[in-house]
Amino acid sequence: MTTIDIPDGSGFGPANLPYGIYSRDGGSRRAATRVGDTVVDLAIVLRDRIPDSERLFASQTLNAFLAEGHERWVEVRAALADAVTGDVPAEALHPVAEVLLHLPVDFADYVDFYASEHHAANLGRLFRPDNPEPLLPNWKHLPVSYHGRTATIVESGADLVRPCGQRKGPDDPAPVFGPSTRLDIEAELGFIVGTGNKMGTMITPADAERHIFGVVIFNDWSARDIQAWEYVPLGPNLGKSFASSVSPWVVPMLALETVKCPLPGQDPTPLSHLRMAEPWGLDIALEVEWNGEVVSRPPYREMYWSPAQMLAHTTSNGAATRPGDIFASGTISGPAKDQRGAFIELTWGGAEPVVVGGAERTFLADGDVVTIRATAHTASGELIDFGQVTTRILPAAC
Ligand code: MN
Repeated sequence: MTTIDIPDGSGFGPANLPYGIYSRDGGSRRAATRVGDTVVDLAIVLRDRIPDSERLFASQTLNAFLAEGHERWVEVRAALADAVTGDVPAEALHPVAEVLLHLPVDFADYVDFYASEHHAANLGRLFRPDNPEPLLPNWKHLPVSYHGRTATIVESGADLVRPCGQRKGPDDPAPVFGPSTRLDIEAELGFIVGTGNKMGTMITPADAERHIFGVVIFNDWSARDIQAWEYVPLGPNLGKSFASSVSPWVVPMLALETVKCPLPGQDPTPLSHLRMAEPWGLDIALEVEWNGEVVSRPPYREMYWSPAQMLAHTTSNGAATRPGDIFASGTISGPAKDQRGAFIELTWGGAEPVVVGGAERTFLADGDVVTIRATAHTASGELIDFGQVTTRILPAAC
């Protein structure tokens, strides 16, 4: 038995206790938490505390645990906090540098929102420059979204092959097919649904908290040239569906109780099915690094719509959700230029390059590496680290 060392300043202390999936030495995948720089095997450490810990955690994904529901999540988190602060079997512990981290969840459906007013207004100005109103008339009445592709959600560290697709610029005589020339990021948070709802029922905004299991960092890769040509009138598809990247650790909502904050303000008041007595956002700070240089710090607290309203909206027509569903927030952008969470905004459609590594840059080049990080602080000052999602761009195959 041993105790786990937590380095000073670590954001993986007992206030965090995220969930992930690891393997080592080519062995099977198993669930873990992270404490300091140590990966802690859940099936082993919870063996004497949670009777079916083997079924839940000696498992390829977190889905069985997600499906258990809110009361079990509370029970397991309490047992885990107790276990990792005492003596722990040495066989449960591995240095994080010596394991592989995998996708935490077998994702079911994926919906991507558009919940930042700053981002939506900036994109409106860029995509519809002749329209005096940057937001479309529906934007403040419902959280706008599109349905994405879970089959191409990949883990941090997985390279991204530049997508190919059809595009036609405003001055091009005809469409062409080829490698995207405007490959971009979208810095977002992803919310993982633990327990869903039956078809024909709705999850209310008040109930949503009991259904949302936790949060990951989410990079919604976007090929702006493909997107601009395809998106009218049915919305994005191939400009997005080639890849989305997620961070390995799912920070449970239970760790974020005191990270909640009021929304910036909703005017007009949403219709009753989306209305909340105290609509909450999350005070989470993101950081976007491009080839080792921080180019943006998007603040999640600026988001217009609550995650609870996003899930309520998703189910408000009676659509079913399932354990492992994920909905992402949409690009997180604050009011300041260096708070924009996509390069199309940061460089104003490529017209205002940013300097990275001494060179003027607009969209992504082959060989570029993008890392997105996120952190928060609890009310008592404990740092919550969401880890990172990092990706390298490889040349197109077409
Ligand atoms: Mn997006």
